[in-house]
Amino acid sequence: LVDELVEEGPYRFRIEQRDEMRVPGVVFASRGLLRDAEQSLQQVANVATLPGIVVASYAMPDIHWGYGFPIGGVAATDVDEGGVVSPGGVGFDISCGVRLLAADCDREELRSALPAIMDALDRAIPRGAGPGGLWRPFTRRQLERLLEGGSRYAVAEGHGEERDLTRCEDGGAVADADITQVSERARERGLGQVGSLGSANHFLEIQEVAEVYDEPAANAFGIARGQVCVMIHCGSRGLGHQICTDHVRAMDQAMARYGITVPDRQLACTPVHSPEGQAYLGAMAAAANYGRANRQLLSDMTRRIFRRTADVRLSLVYDVSHNLAKIETHEVNGTHRRLCVHRKGATRAFPPGHPELPQPLRKFGQPVLIPGTMGTASYVLTGVPGGDAFHSTCHGAGRTLSRHRALRTIATEDLRARLKRDGIAVRPLSWRGLTEEAPEAYKDVSAVVAASEGAGLCRTVARLVPLGVVKG
Ligand code: 5GP
Ligand code: MN
Ligand code: MN
Repeated sequence: LVDELVEEGPYRFRIEQRDEMRVPGVVFASRGLLRDAEQSLQQVANVATLPGIVVASYAMPDIHWGYGFPIGGVAATDVDEGGVVSPGGVGFDISCGVRLLAADCDREELRSALPAIMDALDRAIPRGAGPGGLWRPFTRRQLERLLEGGSRYAVAEGHGEERDLTRCEDGGAVADADITQVSERARERGLGQVGSLGSANHFLEIQEVAEVYDEPAANAFGIARGQVCVMIHCGSRGLGHQICTDHVRAMDQAMARYGITVPDRQLACTPVHSPEGQAYLGAMAAAANYGRANRQLLSDMTRRIFRRTADVRLSLVYDVSHNLAKIETHEVNGTHRRLCVHRKGATRAFPPGHPELPQPLRKFGQPVLIPGTMGTASYVLTGVPGGDAFHSTCHGAGRTLSRHRALRTIATEDLRARLKRDGIAVRPLSWRGLTEEAPEAYKDVSAVVAASEGAGLCRTVARLVPLGVVKG
């Protein structure tokens, strides 16, 4: 497929419709970024066969292979025309996402306190694959309220500020959570992990704003050159994973009853209006609330540490998911349609003027938070008028090396030395885990961001560089 891509415009390629595809594929990238993309482009084509899919099966510049759908994939189905929902289009880490907090100090002012802050975070932030969370004791009744209330519940219980909620996607909680669709096993896994990072690609990073490209937008977002920020990337932990597992299984069994066949079993799906579709969306929303509350708890602890150690305050810039399906209204061929928009490793990017944006941000568009790597950079972008792919853009640099290959080719000692040379403090739970996430394991985030902007999906606002990284 890589060789058959048709160049349609700047950073925009088409996979022609063929065989069972109902729509073409549209890939936003440069040729260079697509060098090893054969398998993931096949996944883009597979997604194009889903019942009810409209316009195109999209891929972002950070595309790489994922479960069923590629990571960096966007697909919208028409809810009222038999469109399906597929858990593989959201992924196992439901509502995995990023939040950015801005400190009221710059790098120089924090320099002497940084080691102490890193040590305190190292001690306080629960991470790794197993149980462990900041919110304890935590009862089953509290879990139910959190699954319904997300960050709002966390803030109501004292884990944050009211203002935080205005800077969260959906005000911190989605309304349509159905906790009856969350299995006992999922609850069991979720109970002990509220306020935990997880492992691998998830992190809590202290950063410095190295460059501002759009002063007015940066101003509105509350960030300026030299300023210290904290970026948190994590999701819904074992609870989200279990919900995905449970509902993939249910859909895999139910699919035939709806006359649906898919080219890959991992694309299991049923109509949005089916009982199985509704059950998944209700459980997915509960997991989304869990993910948001999780990031809220981690922010709360980080704030306490910054305040106690350096008398520094942190205010929320924005919190946005990059693994989620949402029912949204979009114009398709001149008519407004209700769509189930799957974004998997893709970030919603509302344009300026969007009514769901809080007033101070509305003129500038939605802040889009793009982690890069612990050794290079991360970005803040904003949504643009027009947009494309149902107002979506990239979500990260995107992997190029599998974890296994990263471990084989990258020397941990070398990585450790390089981070030290560059003045980046690291507090890993395991050096092995850190090596799997080394900068060489990812694409060049600057190239990904340039392709996203060049394709007209977003605009670059600022580049941030790492000062200290807490990893699972
Ligand atoms: P994902 O959600 O696909 O697991 O990861 C999103 C992105 O996070 C990855 O594509 C990668 O660019 C980025 N990332 C992974 N580890 C780190 C890290 O330690 N620091 C930063 N800044 N970004 C990271
Ligand atoms: Mn995740
Ligand atoms: Mn993620």
